[in-house]
Amino acid sequence: MKRLKCLLVCLALTLAGRYALGQSATGDGAGQRWWSHIQFLADDNLEGRDVGSRGYKKASDYMAEQFRAVGLQPAGTEGYRQPMDFYVVRIDETRCSLDLLGGGKAQAVKLGDDAVLGVNWHAAENVEASAVFVGYGLTVPELNYDDLAGQDVKGKIVVFVTGGPADVSGPIKAHYQSGDERRKALLKAGAIGTIAIPNPKSIEVPWSRVAASRFQLRMELRDPGQDVPPPLQVGILFNPARANMLFAGSGHTFQEILAALNADKPLPHFPLVVKVHARIGMTRSEAKSENVVGVLPGSAPDLKKEYVVISAHLDHLGIGEPVNGDRIYNGAMDDASGDASLIEIARAMRDSGTKPKRSIVFLSVTGEEKGLLGSQYFAAHPTVSGTIVADFNMDMYLPLFPLKYLEIQGLGESTLGDDVRAVAGQAGVRVQADKEPDHNRFIRSDQYSFIKKGVPSLAFKFGYIPGTPEEKIFKAWYAERYHAPSDDLSQPVDLPAAAQFNASLENLALRVADADHGPEWKQDSFFRRFVQ
Ligand SMILES: [Zn+2]
Repeated sequence: MKRLKCLLVCLALTLAGRYALGQSATGDGAGQRWWSHIQFLADDNLEGRDVGSRGYKKASDYMAEQFRAVGLQPAGTEGYRQPMDFYVVRIDETRCSLDLLGGGKAQAVKLGDDAVLGVNWHAAENVEASAVFVGYGLTVPELNYDDLAGQDVKGKIVVFVTGGPADVSGPIKAHYQSGDERRKALLKAGAIGTIAIPNPKSIEVPWSRVAASRFQLRMELRDPGQDVPPPLQVGILFNPARANMLFAGSGHTFQEILAALNADKPLPHFPLVVKVHARIGMTRSEAKSENVVGVLPGSAPDLKKEYVVISAHLDHLGIGEPVNGDRIYNGAMDDASGDASLIEIARAMRDSGTKPKRSIVFLSVTGEEKGLLGSQYFAAHPTVSGTIVADFNMDMYLPLFPLKYLEIQGLGESTLGDDVRAVAGQAGVRVQADKEPDHNRFIRSDQYSFIKKGVPSLAFKFGYIPGTPEEKIFKAWYAERYHAPSDDLSQPVDLPAAAQFNASLENLALRVADADHGPEWKQDSFFRRFVQ
């Protein structure tokens, strides 16, 4: 058996054409050892690692123990742990309704099928308001682009399609679509709520999965530690396939809006005829959870107070609506795979006896799925004293096929892009820029908590060439497994490729930790503005 496995691994390595890698992380059994952590973290027994759950606690105990075992020093506020408090809200749909009022009648919007009501700790329980369609609902001050300009949105609900004009760059579109930035602009204009229609061009999961996720717990940090704009009274997500009912009587149709969107023409702006009436029932509670933090201390007296962070998130979606009879959202790739990599990268550094000049922080965060909360908390309340100079975030990098291409989010934004090119080049891996900038992935995981603090960051995906079987595998994974119970231990994963990825991340972190100069944003990077 053993020989057969070795044969298969070696064959796979040869076929993938990868050579000259750090032996420590790709050597005997490295992929299998990486997988063994996922087997623990994504087991049904951990119940999907929801924030504040028993399963999450088992997961954080495991990470703390593994960090200790691979020789990292504790770098939390309580040993390896950094606890924090959350407000928790759960929707109670028996006390919810959504109606479109017009022409003396009310048209009921079917919750789940047609739309999903958002909830937050401070949400209003009863809202009735006029609505205005505002195109993409985007405000980009530096481009003088403002979908709200000249629109009367005061006291109203704004309706928009997600995304933005084709000539606005990906990072800018992504940043101004983030919840905080949108809220800032909408609050300033006096809007009281939103109806977002997902852009059919960049939809990742079928509506049925969006609908199924509406019963998940919503959480907020009790102490976000920075001025986060307050929530709006109501936030609604509308099924694009049913969006036409919003436009009844307005003289516009959703088809017409989509046609303009697909032709990259400006979207119309107009008041809706229907009024929106939402009743929102919810139950409130509180929870505790924790990040897990370990550090490999730097060896250079003048640089050891500078920290390179490698991060991944430990929470997932817990137990939810059943899909094909399975209720446990195991989150094997999302993101037990990243936590497993944290452990294996730390182990490889210990085994090679490397002494990086800067310190390297291994950070496993909670609350990512609730809105990047654990990383936001860490960035606001860092447990290491000194300067965080980089973040490399691993969030379902998807080692589903051999590592020939590495897709990098943030590639062109900082000198870290040059570092990853160098490291990947040595390993015979080609680097690709984000192929789907409209999916906003650069701001959709924990790296964004660091980016907003001015820290150059990168995030990673296995890359592919469009039109190849790898593209099919990648897209099928999103369609079938992303945020579904089938992201579990029964899926096919390329273990040697994962080990190779870990070796590349190890090399990348060491290169940056040992460099004479710390990383910097490129002069023309949009994200440079956050440097403090
Ligand atoms: Zn994730």
